[in-house]
Amino acid sequence: MIQGIGAAAGVAIGRAFVLPAWEMDVQDRRLETIDLSKEFERLHEGIITSKHEIEEIRNEIQQMVGKEESTIFDAHLAILEDPVFMSEIRGIIERQYKAAEVAVKEAIDHFVTMFDLLDDEYMKERALDIKDVGNRLLKHLLGTPEVTLPKDNQPYILVAKEFSPSQLVHLNPNNVLGMVTMVGGKSSHSAIMARALGIPLVSGFEDKLNRMIQTGDLLVLDGDEGCLYVNPDTDIVGRYTLVAEKQKQRKEQLQLLASEDAVTHDGIHFHLAGNISSFKEFELAVKHGAEGVGLFRTEFLYMDRAAFPSEEQQYEVYRKVAELAGEHSVVIRTLDIGGDKQLEYFPLPKEDNPFLGYRAIRISLDRRDLFKTQLTAILRASAYGNVKIMYPMISSVEEIRSANFILREAMADLDRRGLAYNREVPVGIMIEVPAAAASADLLAEECDFFSIGTNDLVQYVLAVDRMNEKIAHMYRPFHPAVLRMMKTAVEAAHLRGIPVSVCGELAGDERAIPLWAYLGVYNLSMSPQALLRIKHRLLNISAAEEARIGEQCYTCRTAMEIESFLASRQLQEG
Ligand code: PEP
Ligand code: MG
Repeated sequence: MIQGIGAAAGVAIGRAFVLPAWEMDVQDRRLETIDLSKEFERLHEGIITSKHEIEEIRNEIQQMVGKEESTIFDAHLAILEDPVFMSEIRGIIERQYKAAEVAVKEAIDHFVTMFDLLDDEYMKERALDIKDVGNRLLKHLLGTPEVTLPKDNQPYILVAKEFSPSQLVHLNPNNVLGMVTMVGGKSSHSAIMARALGIPLVSGFEDKLNRMIQTGDLLVLDGDEGCLYVNPDTDIVGRYTLVAEKQKQRKEQLQLLASEDAVTHDGIHFHLAGNISSFKEFELAVKHGAEGVGLFRTEFLYMDRAAFPSEEQQYEVYRKVAELAGEHSVVIRTLDIGGDKQLEYFPLPKEDNPFLGYRAIRISLDRRDLFKTQLTAILRASAYGNVKIMYPMISSVEEIRSANFILREAMADLDRRGLAYNREVPVGIMIEVPAAAASADLLAEECDFFSIGTNDLVQYVLAVDRMNEKIAHMYRPFHPAVLRMMKTAVEAAHLRGIPVSVCGELAGDERAIPLWAYLGVYNLSMSPQALLRIKHRLLNISAAEEARIGEQCYTCRTAMEIESFLASRQLQEG
């Protein structure tokens, strides 16, 4: 058994499928003059093998999906025959005496950067193709293990160093039993997405495996305990098969609660909404009884594409969700990129501290063109449902005012174009930066609602990078400092009479219910997977009793004391 971090709950048993790294690690290697012809030979062999591989995939896709979908691979073949691309590689080998893999990597970087700079969607797509083909060639030159997708369409456990959010957006949850990542912790975006899709995930195995997992290995993983078994004996498999069966039954029982209101024994109605980042997740949230959307992470609409989505493309998605949510509200958060969320076509400057740098509302206020396009799309959708706008990572009154200024410009444009929107659209902010919590009284005067983003709030209050597994044990949502920050924000909202909700991962944590009862926060937005579990808990408690427990948490001096107190209570209740 190998101990890692349990990042998304559940047990999975199945065969591993190892994803290749998107960014290949290439060591700079120089040649002797005498080796040049050998190097050209290696390059030639790599190209031939890559071509065979692409032809095979193309034929397979043609049979299984269709001719049109397979044409992308014709384009990939053409790149391997492209005289400009190939002469760039050969030139680097010949003139700079660099090894073939170094030359390929440099040529890819050169063309990708060049195409990315062009303001042309088609060329940007070509840049992605070059990267893809180049990586395939690199794989052969470096001798990294062969990767072919499982042919029998059997579900598998995905293994990777780390998944990029864009890879995750395109996962078919029906084919993925579980996921294993070498890096990342409980609060990485992979973890959030995995929880949203109900896929068990264990992380943090870098340096812990004595042999890298291979495609085809039998894996058992336990996302609750964070443990992983590679090719275990039949006893372990048998034991976990029983656990998996029990989990399935519990899921089926919880599903029966989907249409009930989350009302405690003493009559307090908690309003439970879903956090979504795609239409797929919206459907899941609805299936699990969500009363609207408390956080629409729109950045995922911007990922895995060649250029920024247009106003029209965004509007279509926002409108669809708004219409389907009916009278329930849909809180659409404006673009929150930077930190660990990157867009391939919008390279952000390399920063020493990206989480403290150019991200979220800071980018929107800098790139007003992009921001206005998004606000316009959201405004147009507001004519079709109960849409609210939310700004991420606000840290000052000025930021709200500047953002609202652009919002008003977008409104004026729509007036000129004669398009409908809700003039009174509520505008709220995320409370996820300590400055926002500390000055919540001032910010509350400038907006219509607060939503507490505990994921970032914890990282910023405790100065603990949410992505760094070395200090994952210090990422403590129940730290007294975090509790106090939340209290300040909630009290400010109550005093000014604006609604306040919680949309960070803590909202989906049963242990935190006493805190919400004590603070008087009855709006919670969470991963679709957490909704029924939280509702089940709320249906079986009294809010007054929970509030008493929450109050006691506020007298504790350490995170450990609070966690143990809440855990002992859960144990008592069985
Ligand atoms: C948060 O920070 O708590 C949050 C909800 O936003 P995200 O996880 O997308 O940063
Ligand atoms: Mg955040």
